[in-house]
Amino acid sequence: MILPLASGVFPSLAPSDRSAFWAVTGRLGGVSAGAFSSANLADHVGDQSVHVDSNRAALAALVGVEQPNLVVMTPVHGGDVAVVRSTGVAQPADSLVTEEVGIGLVALGADCATIGLCGYREDRQPMIAVVHCGWKGLCADVLGNTVKTMSELGAATFRAILGPAICGNCYPVPEDRLQQVRDRCRSDVAAAALGSAGGIDVRAGLEVWLTECEIPFESVGGCTSESSRELFSYRRDGRTGRQGLVLVLKESTNAAP
Ligand SMILES: [Zn+2]
Repeated sequence: MILPLASGVFPSLAPSDRSAFWAVTGRLGGVSAGAFSSANLADHVGDQSVHVDSNRAALAALVGVEQPNLVVMTPVHGGDVAVVRSTGVAQPADSLVTEEVGIGLVALGADCATIGLCGYREDRQPMIAVVHCGWKGLCADVLGNTVKTMSELGAATFRAILGPAICGNCYPVPEDRLQQVRDRCRSDVAAAALGSAGGIDVRAGLEVWLTECEIPFESVGGCTSESSRELFSYRRDGRTGRQGLVLVLKESTNAAP
């Protein structure tokens, strides 16, 4: 069993319409041990695969899908978006979008921000996306690219959920990295992300981006580095697990897990 930081639903616009369930996880629950204690969802960090499998099964149960229907992102710190039309392995990308019911999209992180998006079409039906975004993703505008892709698929209005991420005070970086954020991000986004002297707060930048685009959002969890009991942090611990953000479309609100 996984104990999520928070979970909820992007409500459908009418009771009979599809709706999108989301959950944001941290360290709590699950079966992993040691550095991966205990809800690690990543299979590339050195954790036992039997433990990762068990945790992913618990994540699937949390949102009411079968484990094979989870599509777990393989991030590459870029700006590309992959549209997912079936279960299985998605192409490596930092954004996954789907209009398919019953596919659980999963983004993982341990300091980088994760974002869940629900986009509603003119006919009210929703589509979903999960995004992984560190400072490189902020520079590559992976969130903007995701909204653009969803818009091209017909989405007209959006809602978002932001998972936990490291704050600027806990994430000091070399000057050249700060300069890349100044050079490549929109000025208001860069100003928010660079609010702490010498550090980058990616989530603060994303919050400004969403606000400017008039996309309502909720931010879940605090700074990963400052929450050692509840959250994995790569910057703090090096060898560690990954928390997740999962979204799935259901046929109707009545199909709640
Ligand atoms: Zn912090």
